[in-house]
Amino acid sequence: MSDIGIVGGGFLGLTLAWRLRAEGHEVTVIEAAAEPGGLAAPAELGGFTWDRFYHVILLSDSNLRGLLEELGLADRLRYGTTRTGFYTDGILYSLSTSLEFLRFPPLTLVDKGRLAATILHASRIADGRPLESVPVTEWLTRWSGTRTFERIWLPLLKSKLGENYRLASASFIWAIIARMYAARRSGLKQEKFGYVEGGYAVVLQRFRERLAAAGVRVATGRAVQRVEPAPEGGVAVTLDGGGALRFDDAILTVPCGRVATLCPGLTADERARLTGVTYQGIVCASVLLSQPLAPYYVTNITESWVPFTAVIEMTALVDRAAFGGNALVYLPRYLTQEDPFWQRSDAEIRELFLDALARMYPAFRREQVLAFNVSRVREVLAVSTLDYSARHLPPVATSLPGIHVVNSAQIANGTLNLNETIGLANQQARALAPRLRRAAPEAALPR
Ligand SMILES: Cc1cc2nc3c(=O)[nH]c(=O)nc-3n(C[C@H](O)[C@H](O)[C@H](O)COP(=O)(O)OP(=O)(O)OC[C@H]3O[C@@H](n4cnc5c(N)ncnc54)[C@H](O)[C@@H]3O)c2cc1C
Repeated sequence: MSDIGIVGGGFLGLTLAWRLRAEGHEVTVIEAAAEPGGLAAPAELGGFTWDRFYHVILLSDSNLRGLLEELGLADRLRYGTTRTGFYTDGILYSLSTSLEFLRFPPLTLVDKGRLAATILHASRIADGRPLESVPVTEWLTRWSGTRTFERIWLPLLKSKLGENYRLASASFIWAIIARMYAARRSGLKQEKFGYVEGGYAVVLQRFRERLAAAGVRVATGRAVQRVEPAPEGGVAVTLDGGGALRFDDAILTVPCGRVATLCPGLTADERARLTGVTYQGIVCASVLLSQPLAPYYVTNITESWVPFTAVIEMTALVDRAAFGGNALVYLPRYLTQEDPFWQRSDAEIRELFLDALARMYPAFRREQVLAFNVSRVREVLAVSTLDYSARHLPPVATSLPGIHVVNSAQIANGTLNLNETIGLANQQARALAPRLRRAAPEAALPR
């Protein structure tokens, strides 16, 4: 049995802890924030608690649904069919059915045919790896034509990647389409979006209870400062503000740049590979409104003057009763690391975003705003840059004995979502077994 320290208490760290404990290891999770959950952690808004960032569950999210089942939460899953909006040329269109797509004025019939063919083609590609060597801009222009690329794909790419779209490979867009089509591929006729009643706060609460009952320690409010081989053997984990812990093995689930900072003993090559991963950040407002904006869960935006990159109306899916009859809307803006928008204050963002809502939605009034929060995360997503798997994907093993990396940058050819995150944790808990310091005895806990 190994004594394992896991750095980072997001879903990746928690799921790894759950799996490794089930194999009989001693496990401690060390989380910098006051509560675990990372990107899926809850936040309070106007007296209601929901996810800090918007989350939906797809019927095809088998790893995530499996975990919810283990946690005894499957009966709290709720699904609904949602509609999609498209804001372009100053007009908000519904783009939720094939008929609406056929009528969609900004594109000609030929453009639409090419767009549909692009999506169909991507949905039929089983392995996205060969697309890693093709720039996404080149691939989309080839399949959809210049006009559709410029009118539809380019604004959407910019909305997801900012200026990093220039670096991305075609596997980025393939992974998004593949995720949306996974439900259909698995034989389900219609995509539905789901959520857990009460949001991820409920999942995290249950997860913590189960982890504690299984004997996993989750130390919160303790940022790790350094991880290095201990002179007496094993791994020393130094905490911010003093104190050190010793483990047989440590697993870092934090972003690549942070791994490089936390582990001073890594080789120059290892550091170069880790710091070479390009991360996308996000500034996201969550807004509680007394009235809904529109009937769409997601509204894609192609207008460059709009300061956010989409409108996500959570209460187009989640029952408004969960928010006292009010509406919960997220306004995300994805950013490169260099973007000057990081410097904007919460007050400036509020003004800018609410002005834009007023221009987009004629019925919107500022008096409808009951609460407005801003969340910022610098390292959300490792961008699928060209030849990502070969050049950047960080290996699990490091040159430092007992120190391993399992983080979301290892999700190549996939999109960042909890299903992939949990899948990665499941897979790596199995793969790591022979590499952990001491072989585990027979499984100590029932699964
Ligand atoms: C805007 C947005 C929308 C999303 N929408 C969806 C969706 O619809 N569906 C879906 O399935 N997924 C969605 N996701 C993705 C999902 O939230 C992530 O896949 C998942 O939460 C990633 O978990 P993680 O553990 O890998 O990373 P994180 O959640 O980032 O966890 C890393 C943890 O490490 C901690 N940490 C960092 N440094 C230190 C340190 N030095 N010491 C100790 N701890 C440290 C951090 O505090 C954090 O808690 C969305 C994410 C975002 C941002």
